[in-house]
Amino acid sequence: MDDKTFRQIWKKLMESDKITIIPHLNPDGDALGSGLGLYWTLKKLGKKVKIYNKTTPLPYYLDFLPGFDQITNQYPKDTQVVVSVDCGDFDRLGIEERPPFLINIDHHYTNPNFGDLNLVDRGGPATAYVVYQLLKRNRAELTPEGATGLYTGILTDTGNFQYETVTGDLFRAVADLVDAGANPGWIGQMLYQRDRLSRLRLLAKILDNIRLLLNGKVAFSFATQKMFRETGATKEDTETISSQLRNIGPVEIGLFLREEEDGSVKVSLRSKEKVDVGKISVKLGGGGHARAAGATLPNTSIEEALKIILPLIEKELKATGVLEESTKENSPKKEIESPHLQQITKPEPPDISEKKEESPLSVTSSPNSPTIEKV
Ligand code: 5GP
Ligand code: MN
Repeated sequence: MDDKTFRQIWKKLMESDKITIIPHLNPDGDALGSGLGLYWTLKKLGKKVKIYNKTTPLPYYLDFLPGFDQITNQYPKDTQVVVSVDCGDFDRLGIEERPPFLINIDHHYTNPNFGDLNLVDRGGPATAYVVYQLLKRNRAELTPEGATGLYTGILTDTGNFQYETVTGDLFRAVADLVDAGANPGWIGQMLYQRDRLSRLRLLAKILDNIRLLLNGKVAFSFATQKMFRETGATKEDTETISSQLRNIGPVEIGLFLREEEDGSVKVSLRSKEKVDVGKISVKLGGGGHARAAGATLPNTSIEEALKIILPLIEKELKATGVLEESTKENSPKKEIESPHLQQITKPEPPDISEKKEESPLSVTSSPNSPTIEKV
């Protein structure tokens, strides 16, 4: 990222009026945080700036971000310049046509520089950190609202400052964001102390189904549509699961598969220190980072998806020396053919007619009981 690009992008933004910021589809803390970080400064400079995302609903756990309610799902037709934030490729924007001018701000190493101007910190900690540098280098003012978004983006994309992407310079930027009005205590509370009972109930089911595969180097679990119906949880409630799987002591890779409403399977991968899961995701038609990546496999089942993914994982585990070449008894084939897995991944028919009358006393076995669901 050279000085010239920082200047060119700012010049273009200052010359333009109708600017649309687009965080990636199914946005996370960095996508919305970096988008809103830029939004507030441009707004203060008098720009007609909009922030657009096609995803509805947006993740509820990010609703505390200042400007969250300004995010529109109507693409502004008269846009002059689009700024894409945290999008690893053009498809992640959720727009069909290329805008008149496209600025691409990101940190995915797989980013193919799809913009007219590209500011990509490949392998860097967060897009929010790139936006921070863009504002600082051009002496633009940070607002407390924008600083809150940028802090949230950095916090969430570094696993709360745990990853190897964290540097002294990043902490100095974070200190500056706190001085500008980001409140770490409040943001932490908003992100991590507003959990929903339905999410914990789903988590219990997912954790109960964990299986260790490939010599214990892969922790795998999944969520089916039935599990969502039974618990009342929603898909964004699974955001942290693949990391939790990876966090098991001897495990190198956390693999989480989520059955989607449209019959596709969302793949989420995390690694600890050796395997580049971004590489695996690209082979699956997705993308991401070395330690966190994902993809969506259309028209498939969890079981079928596993048959495609496990050999790719096995290959990378062997190539990086995590797994020895001859671990036949732990081959993925054997695991897939396990009757237990067949049973737990077998698609279930919709349970519309399954609703049973529950006794008000059966609290522990009745997640749908209104008396306990409204916690
Ligand atoms: P997650 O596992 O949380 O969905 O995603 C982890 C990382 O992989 C994120 O940085 C996200 O942008 C990227 N990612 C997840 N799914 C996809 C996908 O379908 N396509 C691409 N290009 N990147 C993805
Ligand atoms: Mn990011």
